Amino acid sequence: MTNKEYINAIEKLNLYSVHYYVLDDPITTDEVYDKLYHEVLEYEEKNPNELLASSPTQRVGDVISTGFEKASHLSRMWSLEDIFDNEGLQKWLTKTYKLDSNITFYCEPKFDGASLNLIYENGVLIQGITRGDGEVGELITQNVKTIKSIPLTIAHKSRIEIRGEIVIFKDEFEKINESRLKAGEALFANPRNAAAGSLRQLDSSITAARNLVFLPYSVGENTLEYKLLHDIMDYIYSLGFRKPPKREVCKDMQEIESIYKQMVDERDSYPMMLDGMVVKVDEIASQIDMGYTVKVPRFSVAYKFPAVEKITRVKKIVLQV
Ligand code: NAD
Repeated sequence: MTNKEYINAIEKLNLYSVHYYVLDDPITTDEVYDKLYHEVLEYEEKNPNELLASSPTQRVGDVISTGFEKASHLSRMWSLEDIFDNEGLQKWLTKTYKLDSNITFYCEPKFDGASLNLIYENGVLIQGITRGDGEVGELITQNVKTIKSIPLTIAHKSRIEIRGEIVIFKDEFEKINESRLKAGEALFANPRNAAAGSLRQLDSSITAARNLVFLPYSVGENTLEYKLLHDIMDYIYSLGFRKPPKREVCKDMQEIESIYKQMVDERDSYPMMLDGMVVKVDEIASQIDMGYTVKVPRFSVAYKFPAVEKITRVKKIVLQV
């Protein structure tokens, strides 16, 4: 890649991001985006002096739309580093073990939806904020309150941020697209875009009608004293949040690979779309020591699933007519 190609690639990726994050209407596939993103990343690793601040590798991707009031997260939200195969996992583990060799790993699905931060104070849901640029997102509390899997009150009094993914189940996605097809409206490209688009509606009654589901995966600011992430998540589920269909604590690469294979094999039987498995260091003290790059935590990684042909029943209908 030349410098000119590098600059062009950044412009292209930023344009793709606007269509993906703001308009909820992607103009390219995730595979094309990911390939170009990794070429940019490789170029920057070889030519660190030429790195541009506008590069998508330097920031959490979402672009904030102007339709909503903005709100700050109490603590930053992040993206995730991707790996695609066993070699990637080996490299990530080598890097991570160098930071701390005495660790175990919490593995759970990577849900393909839109990130959401919930702030509870005195046990009451006070704000729902999209990830945005990681520091500031869109304030969508009224929409969030229509989602049945999000408790409006919890039995936890000190201030806490609960982070998770908003998804649309696959059968619901097909129903929505079928009714859009009948109404002559544009179809959603995939459940991820349908979830993100439904969450960011100016009219809350549209969000309410879409049957969105919240799946928690971590906490932000909190006063919890648990030493292990899986204990934190068990506590969060005990407050009335939904559990993932599978999760496991693994002690080494072999166990990680085994649970990854199970998730790949079982993914079609889950009600929600997954695009990978997230591997996280389970020990909270080690997570804090490892910290973050400008964009991602060093203590976790997204082990992406092989791409599948994402053709829905509705698209088949469209192809038939
Ligand atoms: P990401 O979605 O790949 O990963 C980070 C996010 O994963 C987190 O913010 C969180 O919301 C989510 N997540 C789901 N389950 C999780 C779990 N169990 N634990 C922790 N986090 C979990 O990263 P991103 O920065 O949001 O988006 C980048 C991806 O978006 C790219 O890899 C690309 O595939 C896609 N994209 C596509 C286009 C396009 O035009 N097709 C454009 C921009 C981005």
